[in-house]
Parts: sequence; C-alpha cells; structure tokens
Amino acid sequence: MHNHRPQELTVDRAAGTLRVVWQDGHASVYALHWLRANCPCASCREERRAAALQTDLLKLTAGSPPSAEIVGAELVGNYAVRFGWADGHDGGIYVFAALRQSCPCAECNPSGPPPLLPDD
Ligand SMILES: [Zn+2]
Ligand SMILES: [Zn+2]
Repeated sequence: MHNHRPQELTVDRAAGTLRVVWQDGHASVYALHWLRANCPCASCREERRAAALQTDLLKLTAGSPPSAEIVGAELVGNYAVRFGWADGHDGGIYVFAALRQSCPCAECNPSGPPPLLPDD
C-alpha cells in the first residue's frame, strides 16, 4: 500500500491537470475535468447512475457543466485527497489507491483510464 502514497501532488491550474508522483517514482497526470467527472461523492455517483439510465437527451444536456477548476485540496489521513471545486462542490474524497489504478498513462492503462473506483 505504501506505493499508493504520493510523494508529490501538484495542481496546474493553467494546464488543467493534477500531477501525482508516487512513492515508486511513477508520475500520473490527471485532467481536472476527468477528476470532476469521476467525483466519488455520494451525490455525484447517484447522478451518474441516474444519467446512465436516462434516455431523455434533453435532460442529459441541460444545465451548465460542473466546474473543473480546483480551488482547494486537503489531505484526508494519508490515504486520500479531497478537492474543493470553484462551484463550491467539495464532497469527493479521492482515494490514492483508486487514483493510481486509474492512471491515464499508456503504460498503466493502454486503453484509457477506467472510471475512478468508489470508496466502498
Ligand atoms: Zn461530487
Ligand atoms: Zn501510469
């Protein structure tokens, strides 16, 4: 598990990315909009479940997209990080082990990153 602790965690607001360097030296670069789209909080997970069942395209495209701008980051114990987004949303706890599994690099996930695993 110690490999799932980052030694470095950098938000690049200009590039819109989060860069994580893990204990083993591997670096993962996540797009902030991907992180937001995979927000692991209960209400976002419920929304995605509903959207997956939603057949009404009008409803799917209604409303403004959620913010992908990070305004705050806070460590949760030594196993996760919690992000605050510009629109006030801050309930998502991103578990490092899940982030590492969803590393978007071609070496870890050649066919694209899997959705972030929920914390349960
Ligand atoms: Zn959320
Ligand atoms: Zn990787």
